[in-house]
Amino acid sequence: MRLFVALDLPFALRQQLALLAGRGIPGARWVPAENYHLTLRFIGEIQAWQAEEIDHALAGLRAPGFALTLAGVGTFSKGGRSTQLWAGVERCPPLDHLRAKIETTLQRAGLPPERRRFAPHVTLARLDNAPEAKLAAFLQGHNLFRADPVPVAHFTLFSSLLGKEQAVYTPEVEYALG
Ligand code: ATP
Ligand code: MG
Repeated sequence: MRLFVALDLPFALRQQLALLAGRGIPGARWVPAENYHLTLRFIGEIQAWQAEEIDHALAGLRAPGFALTLAGVGTFSKGGRSTQLWAGVERCPPLDHLRAKIETTLQRAGLPPERRRFAPHVTLARLDNAPEAKLAAFLQGHNLFRADPVPVAHFTLFSSLLGKEQAVYTPEVEYALG
């Protein structure tokens, strides 16, 4: 199975994000609102026995809950082409703390270290040759986007089924924060 650890987002926040989506960028594949999430750690394809060990390890993790505020929009690019459009996250030390704890926990459970820098974001769209001028206009237009803060009281182990259109994410286990 294919797994990742993420924050799911409350309904009201999904609605605020969905207001950003759907218009103005040819070549954008907008993520449906039910798929919005903030990835803390991508795990990838693993065997069922290893998933059990991961679940056990995550269940032992202790970290405090916190408030999360999404703010700003941006893009990731690869080879000079924009590939993803996202909503950003306001500086949030408890979020960084949680993601660091998850990283150590998963390494102790036997996963290889994550080499990528943590860049917390919520993907709004995948981009296929979206015109850069349209993207720039979108970024400028939503520069001041700031959602209402939401309480984060748990994190979630998701499974992911890749499909032709959109991946299907299923929350497998929720882990409470203190
Ligand atoms: P698709 O791959 O079909 O576009 P997806 O990326 O949403 O769908 P997954 O590939 O299963 O679905 O990824 C699940 C989550 O993990 C997403 O938030 C994705 O951005 C993130 N992710 C995927 N691969 C990596 C990776 N190698 N490193 C870090 N995060 C990743
Ligand atoms: Mg992917």
